[in-house]
Amino acid sequence: MIKKTLLAVAAVAVAGAASAFPDKPITIVVPFAAGGPTDKVARDFAEAVRKPLGNATIVVENVGGAGGTLGAARVAKATPDGHTLLLYHIGMSTSPGLYRKLPFSVLDDFEFVGMVNDVPMTLIGRPNLPANNFAELRKWINDNKGKVNLANAGLGAASHLCGLLFQQALQVEMTTVPYKGTAPAMTDILGGQVDIMCDQTTNTTSQIEAGKVKAYAVSTMQPLTTPALKNLPTLDSQGLKGFNVSIWHGVYAPKGTPKPVLDKLNAALREALKDPEFVKRQEALGAVIVTDNRLTPEGHKKFVADEINKWGAAIKAAGQYAD
Ligand code: ASP
Repeated sequence: MIKKTLLAVAAVAVAGAASAFPDKPITIVVPFAAGGPTDKVARDFAEAVRKPLGNATIVVENVGGAGGTLGAARVAKATPDGHTLLLYHIGMSTSPGLYRKLPFSVLDDFEFVGMVNDVPMTLIGRPNLPANNFAELRKWINDNKGKVNLANAGLGAASHLCGLLFQQALQVEMTTVPYKGTAPAMTDILGGQVDIMCDQTTNTTSQIEAGKVKAYAVSTMQPLTTPALKNLPTLDSQGLKGFNVSIWHGVYAPKGTPKPVLDKLNAALREALKDPEFVKRQEALGAVIVTDNRLTPEGHKKFVADEINKWGAAIKAAGQYAD
């Protein structure tokens, strides 16, 4: 009897908390440096999701390092009330295959709120790199074996995955230079301190458009339609048969966040993805907004579970190039 009463009181408390949600600022943790591609998506998303959440105050917090796993760990341990969220990319599915011991379980320590977008990647180089197209880059890499630097955002980052597969495809080991995000990595590419990087179009489009970096190829099987990127060849068409990396972003809450709060967040996410300003900005940066069943928490979780298997196997096969 007492147990039943306690459960009823708890249920009322949860329902009350959900109807009041959000009753304080929401923090979206971006597990990379400010100004980079994940940060850009998160800030645009925060602006779009604010309205359907009753003009909530949303703060973006950058917790960079270790390929995004530090920020993810922070959210896994946060109070599960919907006020601390994570916006993370494909690293959610590659980090389990890369780290012997992750400080969280992707599938057990998070609630899946829904996915946001799919984003292709581009292979770029410092502006003073002598190679002007992919064939020349390939030759330059071969001529400079042991000296080529490859920037990334740490083990588990999208740039890490793309760079790993690139080294494997060329069968050439490069010196990887890890940053807390590809915003600082881009600064070093622009300054000529590091040679090449594979990064999301959400970071590289404007630099390519302005001619500030060398652009060599896109990571997807099909060429892109974004005006600034449409002349870039695919790696697949340049001899790296089957090379295909498209990354994605999703939103997560700590495990145990009440279902009514998650429902509110999911409904707000769906609204945000229809916001014309958000759609326009994402399209201009080469991102494709998710419209399929990955918008549901179940579809999102199933997709990430499948991606963990897919990339786990690929990472094992590319093991020697993994740092
Ligand atoms: N583009 C980065 C990555 O390689 C992360 C970032 O700075 O957003 O994962």
